[in-house]
Amino acid sequence: MTHADTITEVIEEFDFLKRTRLEFEKSIEFINAEIKPVEKGVRRFLEQPFRQLAVKFPVQMDNGSIEIFTGYRVQQNRLYEPTKGGIRYASDVSLDLITALAFDMTMKCQVVGLPYGGAKGGVCADPKKLSRAELDRLTRRYAYEILPIIGPDSDVPAPDVGTSEREMGIIYDTYKMFNPQTPYAPAVVTGKPLNLGGSKGRKEATAQGGAYVLEEAVKQKSIEGFSSLKDAAVVVQGYGNVGFHISQILHDDFGCKIVGICDSKGGIYSEDGLDPKEVMGYKNSSPDQSVIGFDGLQHLTQLQLLTSSCDILIPAAKETQILGSVAKDLQASVILELANGPTTNLADRILTDKKVHVLPDILANAGGVTVSYFEWLQNKAGESWELPIVKEKLQRKMATAYGNIVETARNHNLDMRSAAFVFAISKAIDVVYERGIFP
Ligand code: NAD
Repeated sequence: MTHADTITEVIEEFDFLKRTRLEFEKSIEFINAEIKPVEKGVRRFLEQPFRQLAVKFPVQMDNGSIEIFTGYRVQQNRLYEPTKGGIRYASDVSLDLITALAFDMTMKCQVVGLPYGGAKGGVCADPKKLSRAELDRLTRRYAYEILPIIGPDSDVPAPDVGTSEREMGIIYDTYKMFNPQTPYAPAVVTGKPLNLGGSKGRKEATAQGGAYVLEEAVKQKSIEGFSSLKDAAVVVQGYGNVGFHISQILHDDFGCKIVGICDSKGGIYSEDGLDPKEVMGYKNSSPDQSVIGFDGLQHLTQLQLLTSSCDILIPAAKETQILGSVAKDLQASVILELANGPTTNLADRILTDKKVHVLPDILANAGGVTVSYFEWLQNKAGESWELPIVKEKLQRKMATAYGNIVETARNHNLDMRSAAFVFAISKAIDVVYERGIFP
C-alpha cells in the first residue's frame, strides 16, 4: 500500500458518508455482476437523497440572548411513503452525517420489510448545554421549520441520539396546532409518550430487537463457540436509551454478565458483572451524569473498554467508534451493532480476518423503526396494543430478517454486512422497476 493509499484510508475511516457510499457501490457492483443487471440511472437514483432541507433558526435563550441554530431533514428515498427516521441533537450534526444516516434508514426498512423510505433529521446543538426550557423552544421552532415536509403519510420522525419522547410530544403538538383537521395526527411522529399515542415497548425496542437478533444467531448456531447466551460476558459502549436497555434485557432475560459499560466520559469494568439498573441509578445521581466512579471501580478509557476481555461487544453510542486500530486489539468474538455506523470499513476487514461475527447495524438495530411502524399502525387504526403483542410481532420480524440475511450470505458467500446491503438494495431495485419512473 502506498503512502497516498494509507492517507485515503484514514480519511475514509472518519467520513461516514463516504463509507456508506463505498458500501453502496460495492453492493451494486456485486448485484450487477452476480444477481441482475442494474442500470446506471437506477444506481444514481438509489444513492442520492431526493430532498435535503437545511434551516437556520433563532431560539431565545434563558438569559434573553438569541442564538441561531442549524437543523436538517433529509429524505433519502421515497420508494415507499412515508419516509421514516430519527431526529438527532448533537454538536457534530452535519448535512453529510444526516444524509448518511438517512441512507441507512432506507436500507434498514428494506432489511426488515417495512413499507417506508428512509429519512433522518437533526439539529447541531449539544442538548446537555441547554436548559429544559431552551430545548423545548428549540424543538418547537425546529418542528415548525420542517413542518412543510413532515406528516403521517409523507415523513414521520422518531427519537435518536439526544432526543426522547418529550421532543416527539412537542413535534406532535406543533404539527397538530397547524393541522387541526388532519386525521391520524399522532401518526406524524413515533416514540411519543404513551398518553399521546406512543406504543408500549417503543422505548426499549431497538435494544429488544437487537437481543432477538443475537438470540436467533445463537439458536441457529451461526456463531462458532456459542451455544447459549447464559453467562456470556458483554461490554456495552454508550449508556443512553439503547445502551441501558440492551444491558438490562441481556442481564435480566438472557442471563448474560454485563462486565463493562462506558459513556462519553469513559468506562468501568468488573469481571464479576455489573447490575445495569444500579449503574443507571448511580449515573443519574452523579454530578457528571456518568458511570465513572460506580462502586469505586477503576476509570477506563474508551479504547481500554472496547478492547477489554469479553465475548460480546455492543457499540450503542455513535458512528465511527470501532476503528482499524481498535479492531486489531479487540477481544470479543461477536459484535452486535446497535449504534448506526460504529465500525469503519478498515476495521471491518480486520474483523473479517479475525473471524469476529459482526451483526450489522442495518439488521441489529432495526427493532426501533419496526416498533415505530407498529406505533404508526396503532395510531392509524386508533388501537393500543399490549406489550406481549408488540414483543411477539417484533420477535417475528427480527427473526425473519435475520433468516433472510443469513440466507443471502450463504447463497452468495458474503459476510453479514455485505449480505444485508445486497438484500436491501436488491429489493429497492425491484421496487423502482415495479413502480416505474414518474411520469
Ligand atoms: P442516547 O443519546 O440516549 O445515548 C447515547 C449514549 O452514548 C450516551 O450515554 C452518551 O454519553 C454516549 N456516548 C456518546 N459519545 C460516546 C462515546 N464517544 N463513547 C461512549 N459513549 C458515548 O442515544 P440512543 O438513542 O441510545 O442512540 C445510541 C445509538 O443507537 C446511536 O448510534 C443511534 O443512532 C442508534 N439507534 C438508536 C435508535 C433509537 O431508537 N433510539 C434506533 C436505532 C439506532
